[in-house]
Amino acid sequence: MRDGLAARLRGLAGSDAVIDHPDALAVYECDGYTLERATPDIVVLPRTPEQVAAVVRLLWSEKVPFVPRGAGTGLSGGTLPLEAPVMICTSRLNRIEAIDRTNRRVVAQAGVVNQWVSNAVRADGLLYAPDPSSQPACTIGGNVAENSGGPHTLKYGVTTNHVLGVELVLPDGEVVALGGPVEERPGYDLVGLVVGCEGTFGIVTRATLRLTRIPEAHRTVLAVFDSVDAASEAVSGIIAGGIIPAALEMMDGLILGAVEAAYHVGLPTDAGAVLLVELDGLAIGLDPQMERIDAVCRAHGVRELRVARDEAERAALWKCRKRAFGAVGRLAPSYCTQDGVVPRTRVPDILRTIAAAGERHRLRIGNVFHAGDGNIHPILLFDERDPDEVKRVLAAGREILEACVALGGSVTGEHGIGVEKIAQMPLLFAPDDLLAMVRLRAVFDPEQRANPHKIFPDAKVCVETRAPRRRAAV
Ligand SMILES: Cc1cc2nc3c(=O)[nH]c(=O)nc-3n(C[C@H](O)[C@H](O)[C@H](O)COP(=O)(O)OP(=O)(O)OC[C@H]3O[C@@H](n4cnc5c(N)ncnc54)[C@H](O)[C@@H]3O)c2cc1C
Repeated sequence: MRDGLAARLRGLAGSDAVIDHPDALAVYECDGYTLERATPDIVVLPRTPEQVAAVVRLLWSEKVPFVPRGAGTGLSGGTLPLEAPVMICTSRLNRIEAIDRTNRRVVAQAGVVNQWVSNAVRADGLLYAPDPSSQPACTIGGNVAENSGGPHTLKYGVTTNHVLGVELVLPDGEVVALGGPVEERPGYDLVGLVVGCEGTFGIVTRATLRLTRIPEAHRTVLAVFDSVDAASEAVSGIIAGGIIPAALEMMDGLILGAVEAAYHVGLPTDAGAVLLVELDGLAIGLDPQMERIDAVCRAHGVRELRVARDEAERAALWKCRKRAFGAVGRLAPSYCTQDGVVPRTRVPDILRTIAAAGERHRLRIGNVFHAGDGNIHPILLFDERDPDEVKRVLAAGREILEACVALGGSVTGEHGIGVEKIAQMPLLFAPDDLLAMVRLRAVFDPEQRANPHKIFPDAKVCVETRAPRRRAAV
C-alpha cells in the first residue's frame, strides 16, 4: 500500500515533490530537539495550498496519519513522526500573496520564512513584530503552530497577537478559513484556538498577519555584570520600576564566551552575565527611560554600560543575541534547550536552581533567554554518545521545569509541548483539564490523524506517556 501511496502522492504534488528514499528521509528524522528521532516513510512537499488539501484528502481516504513540518527549527520535537508515516513539509508554500500597506496586513503562505515578511515591508516603514531568534529560517506556519515569541515579545506580544486569520486544511482535507483581515469578530476566537495547536488540528496553509510600524527610535544598551545573580536582580528591578523595555535579554558567561569566539565583537568574556536592553518608540521619551534603567543597573552593581551608538552597533549586539544558539555548537557536540517560565520577579531564584541542577548532575548549563518575560532558556550541554550524560540531561531538564511550576510559572514559554514535555503536562493541568483539551482537539481531528501523539499523554490521560518509535526515555 505504501509504495502505491508514494506514486499517488507524486500524481497529486509532482514527481519531484515526494521523498521516500531512506538516505534522503534521514534529513527529516528530527527537528531542533535532537534527543529523540524517528524517520517518516514519505515526505511530501506540495507547492500550493490546493495541493496540500489534495494530499490530505488522499491520506484521509487511506486512513494514513500525517505530521506537518515547516523549517524543522522546533525545539520540542513537534515534527517527530510518531505513527504518522507521512510528513507534509510546507517549505515550497513560500509566497507572500498580498501586502496591504494602508491597513497593515500581509497574507503569507505557511512556508514563508518569518524574516521575509519584515524584509518585504521594511521600505514602507513596517515590520512583522514576532521575531524568534530563528527568524532567518523558521516559517510562518511553524510560528502559528507554536505561538512563537522572541526577544521583542515583552512589548509586542507573541504570534497570537499578530495573526488575524488562518486558512486551515482539516485532517479530512476540508479547507476552512478562520478570521480574516478585519480586527474584531463576533463569536468564538477560533484563530486563537489554532494558534499554538502544534499541528494537531490540521495544516495551516495561509495566514493573514498584522504589520507594525517600525518605531521612530531605539536605545540599545549592553549592561555588563559580574554575576548572574546581580544581572537577574537588575531584571526584577527594571520591571518593578514600571519600565517595559521592547526587549530585555540575558546571556551568561558561558554563552558570552561561545558567542565571542564565534563573532569577535568584543563581548566581555570575563563577565558573569550581560543584559541586552532595548527601548523603542518616540525619540523624545527614550532618554529619560534609559536614565532610569541606568540607575537600576548601577544600584545592582553594573560593571559597564555599553550603549549602541548607531544602527550598526545595535545590529551587532542583536546578531550576538540571535545567533547565540548557533555559537553553542562550539561548546559541546550536543545541546538541549529548555523553555520554562517563571514570574519575572523569580528569575533570580530559577537561575540559582538551574546552577544547582547543573552541579548536581555534573552538567554545563548556559543561559540565554528572554529575561523580561521570565522565559528561561537553560542550554544543557552534553554528548549524545554518552547514555549516562543523556539521562542526566533529561533529569536536570525535568527538575528545572518542576521548579518553574513550583515558582508559579509554566513548562513552556514559546517552544511548545511537542513530545518533549508531554510528561510535564500533568504538573500544570488536572486530568479533567487535559481531557477537556483532548475533546476539543477531537472537534477538529476526531481520528487523531494530524500530528498524533503530541502535547497530551496518550490514551489514559495522565497515565500513559510513552509513544511508539521513540528512543530516549522521557
Ligand atoms: C536557534 C533557534 C532559536 C529559536 N528561537 C526561538 C525564539 O526566540 N522564540 C520562539 O518562540 N521559538 C524559537 N525557536 C523555536 C522554533 O524556531 C519555533 O518554534 C518556530 O516557530 C518553528 O518554526 P518551524 O517552521 O521551524 O516549524 P517546525 O519545527 O517545522 O514545526 C514546529 C511545529 O509546528 C507544526 N507545524 C509546522 N508547520 C505547520 C503548519 N503549516 N500547520 C500546522 N502545523 C505546523 C509542526 O508539526 C510542529 O509541531 C528557536 C529555534 C532555534 C533552532
